[in-house]
Amino acid sequence: MTKYIFVTGGVASALGKGIVSASIGRLLKSRGLRVTLLKFDPYVNVDAGTMNPYQHGEVFVTEDGAETDMDLGHYERFIDENLTRDNNVTTGKIYFSVISRERRGEYLGATVQIIPHVTNEIKEAIREVGRKAQADVVIVEVGGTVGDIEGLPFLEAIRQFRHNVGEENVMYIHVSLVPYLKTVGELKTKPTQHSVKELRSIGIQPDVIVCRTELPLQRSIKEKIALFCDVPLEAVIQAIDVETIYEVPLILEEEGLTDIIVRRLGISCGEPRLEEWRELVNRIKNPHHEVTIALVGKYMGGGDTYVSIVEALHHGGIANRTKVKILKVDSEDLERLDDSGIAARLGGCDGVLVAPGFGDRGVEGKVKAIKFCREHDVPFFGVCYGMQWAVVEFARNVCGLHGANTTEVDPHTPYPVIDLLPEQKGVTEKGGTMRLGSFPCRIEPGSLAFQAYQEEVVFERHRHRYEVNNAYLPLLTSKGLRVSGVYPEKNLAEIIELPGHTWFLGTQFHAEYRSRPNAPHPLYREFIRAALYQARRRKAVKEEAIRGREQYVMRDEP
Ligand code: GLN
Repeated sequence: MTKYIFVTGGVASALGKGIVSASIGRLLKSRGLRVTLLKFDPYVNVDAGTMNPYQHGEVFVTEDGAETDMDLGHYERFIDENLTRDNNVTTGKIYFSVISRERRGEYLGATVQIIPHVTNEIKEAIREVGRKAQADVVIVEVGGTVGDIEGLPFLEAIRQFRHNVGEENVMYIHVSLVPYLKTVGELKTKPTQHSVKELRSIGIQPDVIVCRTELPLQRSIKEKIALFCDVPLEAVIQAIDVETIYEVPLILEEEGLTDIIVRRLGISCGEPRLEEWRELVNRIKNPHHEVTIALVGKYMGGGDTYVSIVEALHHGGIANRTKVKILKVDSEDLERLDDSGIAARLGGCDGVLVAPGFGDRGVEGKVKAIKFCREHDVPFFGVCYGMQWAVVEFARNVCGLHGANTTEVDPHTPYPVIDLLPEQKGVTEKGGTMRLGSFPCRIEPGSLAFQAYQEEVVFERHRHRYEVNNAYLPLLTSKGLRVSGVYPEKNLAEIIELPGHTWFLGTQFHAEYRSRPNAPHPLYREFIRAALYQARRRKAVKEEAIRGREQYVMRDEP
């Protein structure tokens, strides 16, 4: 019998409900259970693909090419398993399916309503992921905050679900905020009380309350929450701020959360096996080295717009026992700078990653960053749009193709070195029509890419419309650009490198989506290794300069 855990959120967004859900997944898996996760997003978009990453963070792409909510990235990284398009369900997707059914006549004779038709569709989505993953436990995170109008059908569906599969198979976990009011020096429970009251008014009584807090919750605070929210004292779980998100499973385990879940759902399972995870956290917290990576992109305001890249950089750090400091650089700011300004901005970094993106804002800043790396032998990693702009920069500044561009930005460029494939040219709809999901890539032996992967064929996830234009490859390669990864079926350039440079590599795909803390992606691992080399080289140059100055001073002094 499959068990179901529903995770809801109260008081505020961005409480880390996704990380809590992912952590529960890891903890149950560590007890030998088969788990899967499902994210409900109450917005009307069919998927996250058409949204600006400022809205809900990055768009995460699954193996099967779904453009999903960024929480799926956390889920995959924590449970170390690939998820599919079924693991993210939006209001748009539910309605799309209900309306299509109605048009096909599947409800013939009936008035189609939120209850039962929409709620049935939602419940079916829950059962479906459990079935497909043959899961012992399905963890369902309901996006948004309890009290939002658009979340109501989802909450109603998870309420009914208990009725359908039996109380003993379902539990509700509410993630809430216990804010600290500095002026009075107190932690406040009232917002949590209100949010639970709201949840109960729609018929859901939480079994556990996970309290996000900056400070430890004293027993009296826990007692108050237990009393007013009607949960046992031990079911008030403290989730205190931690140094690294990968520590969250450990603090939840310590608070006894897994024991409560296992007992409440009557699951028989083994003891937790968290040694590997503990060792991982230990490595993160005790690095031997440090590097600074400039992350150059145009979505710099929000915190989560490049979350998979940021995590993959940290994973690369774990592999090299290195703390990775990330300097976020807005590519639009770079546009205004001259060469010395760029050097001042990026010269203190040990590596530069130029991020994915769309459209023309900030692209010339990306070009300047890439040129700086190429000319000064600074480790460079170009991801998707970042790789495309590395090709444009090379075409312009090395091959002399003035005005070279991607047709995404300049449809009339004389040198369209990045262009649409013929099959993309007729596409007018924007939703789900890019080159999406996993494709094979053949790696050329002797390349940086091969050094990283040690494999001839790899599979990586894509999300783009444009490609390197093969018509320019003879010129680009004759001037020193190397194509070290190719999609064999269509002969598309997937990885480019610059031989002779310490580490200059761009990928048309997004390696970051496959990186896991316990299995850092080889390209990110090697990029950080190159950055470490650059850090040592910079230090040596600095020491040399100091020694030079000392000698100079010694010689000149009377
Ligand atoms: N805008 C580019 C394209 O569509 C790159 C997309 C990306 O960086 N994900 O091809």
